[in-house]
Amino acid sequence: MSNSIQAIRGMNDQLPGELACWQQLEQTAAEVFRLFGYREIRLPVVEKTELFARSIGQSTDIVEKEMYTFQDRNGDQLSLRPEGTAGVVRAMLQHGLLHNAIQRVWYAGAMFRHERPQKGRYRQFHQIGVEAYGMSEADLDVEIISMTSQLWKQLGLSGVALEINTLGTAESRKTYRSALVEYYQANRESLDEDSLRRLDKNPLRILDSKNDAVIELNKKAPDILEYLDNDSKEHFQRVQVLLDKLAISFTRNPKLVRGLDYYGRTVFEWTTDKLGAQSAICGGGRYDALVEKLGGKPVPAAGFAIGMERLIELLKIEQLCQPEKRQDIYIVQTSDTALELGLSMAMEFRDAGFSVTGNIGDTSFKSQLKKANKSNARLALIIGDNELQTNSITVKLLDDGTQLTVSRDNLLAETSKYLANME
Ligand code: ATP
Ligand code: MG
Repeated sequence: MSNSIQAIRGMNDQLPGELACWQQLEQTAAEVFRLFGYREIRLPVVEKTELFARSIGQSTDIVEKEMYTFQDRNGDQLSLRPEGTAGVVRAMLQHGLLHNAIQRVWYAGAMFRHERPQKGRYRQFHQIGVEAYGMSEADLDVEIISMTSQLWKQLGLSGVALEINTLGTAESRKTYRSALVEYYQANRESLDEDSLRRLDKNPLRILDSKNDAVIELNKKAPDILEYLDNDSKEHFQRVQVLLDKLAISFTRNPKLVRGLDYYGRTVFEWTTDKLGAQSAICGGGRYDALVEKLGGKPVPAAGFAIGMERLIELLKIEQLCQPEKRQDIYIVQTSDTALELGLSMAMEFRDAGFSVTGNIGDTSFKSQLKKANKSNARLALIIGDNELQTNSITVKLLDDGTQLTVSRDNLLAETSKYLANME
């Protein structure tokens, strides 16, 4: 073992037996997104570093210290994607999909951030998210929020909390920014190194600090609501009215700024108190300025990303993961003739939708039965010499050991009945 190569820290294997809940989440999400008219998009895992630097923001945690960046053999500066939005915008622009068009898309996949690995925080993790383009109204903000809430409903998940905030427009943020800088300047002694650096570059990000002293200081920081322009105020008001209409409860968190620079107006996060420090399972918001920033004509946009590892962990805690589907049939075959019959029987059962494993290898009857039991199949179909002679099959119910003999003509019908009763 000591000599064998291990996976990279913070990058996890997903082994058979651990994936049923992932598949359940992926299927449920794909279905919910389809119900809202969103279509899937799949993009490269590697992009030019510049794409992320320009979109996520130079003074964010992600770009400052979390990206996996490298030079490829051509000398190009590339990064593993730390999030999905930048790539989606890049693809939309590259393929001209935003000209007078509305787009609603979703994606799922691995993201990479060089963070300190701990529960709920990994270096390779997975997000499933949506992005929508061409709609500036608050209805869209509420549409995407209601997609998440529909997904929780479909998964049976309750007890997650929605926090919302507004970041206004770039213009209104300028005045707010000055007020913040003034406040932080007056309290410089409470700021940590990260915050001091951000004070010039991007003081709003200090609101997102995880440093205790700064968190304390932030409690009395000025509130952006008081600096908002009228349009942004109305927009935020409308979001809240519509959420109320849909009976989606929320609280306003004035400190919610999100970890990426491209957001403006509505931002939101879903959190849980069941996962300790890594409490955010989904984050998103509006990013009307990003398309232009990446070289396109201005196009309003909004989206969210769900952290799949954290959501799966929560589904497990809440016992909402469905168990992995059991194997239906294991075929025990004790001679070459039996094997030939077994092979065609297996195909017949698979055609009828049952999962079947045939024994492989000329092991004894006893060890084949052992393997059948270990396979966790519901039934063993046994084809021995006796069975071949009498044109019948022995059906063994592996959970209680009951055995019965069924004629070959009735086999599919009879076993189907047994399997149906076991559901
Ligand atoms: P956090 O504040 O927890 O670092 P974030 O604001 O950096 O989260 P986003 O970039 O908004 O997260 O990503 C959306 C979601 O992806 C998060 O709410 C979280 O569930 C998940 N996520 C983010 N980083 C990680 C990570 N390193 N490991 C696992 N999940 C993550
Ligand atoms: Mg983060």
